[in-house]
Amino acid sequence: MTNPWNLVFLTLFAVYFTIRGIYIDRAKGTRTKVSRIDVMERVLLFLVFLGNLLLPLVYIFTSWLQFFDYTLPSLLPWIGTVALIVALWLFWRSHRDLGLNWSPSLEIREQHHLVTHGVYHNIRHPMYSAILLFGIGQGLVLENWLGGWSGLVSFILMVVVRLPREESLMTEFFGDAYLAYMKTTGRLIPRVNRRL
Ligand code: SAH
Repeated sequence: MTNPWNLVFLTLFAVYFTIRGIYIDRAKGTRTKVSRIDVMERVLLFLVFLGNLLLPLVYIFTSWLQFFDYTLPSLLPWIGTVALIVALWLFWRSHRDLGLNWSPSLEIREQHHLVTHGVYHNIRHPMYSAILLFGIGQGLVLENWLGGWSGLVSFILMVVVRLPREESLMTEFFGDAYLAYMKTTGRLIPRVNRRL
């Protein structure tokens, strides 16, 4: 690992998984009421595991992907680092605001509450926005087509398939409250609600 940007990425990557680990641990005692984890969900989770975790690590710790190496203009890894830090902040805030209602897949918890406060006030999927932004940061920091952009590509796939399914699950359980919430929020980009 001779490229110092790999070390920068690895450090922020460790922060990402530490945040996730803390909330996985907190959610352990929470029971699931409904699970919609089907074959499609499992395939998507596997692709995200490949793109977000495995390929960047293979790139950093082995020379197996060197065929896909390229050199970035020197400003881009700096911009990528800023994107990674902002993404980590949003990732942490959305975990904090979602609390025990979080799950890694399509699930409803036994004591599930609709969260509309904090970073969820203007945006319905801040955690997914954070992971997409993290993917952009990863691509700008790691100088390898596969190790760099696999995270973004796999998560775009995940979001395209999962978003409509997640929103219909939420509508099924929270009905009008979720429909009203949809009207005042953006999906992945905050919606600014102006008072007339
Ligand atoms: N899509 C959200 C949450 C990701 S975690 C985000 O990007 O921030 C996935 C789980 O969160 C889903 O299974 C769903 O049950 C739950 N969820 C999604 N939006 C929610 C909300 N506003 N309030 C409570 N739970 C929510």
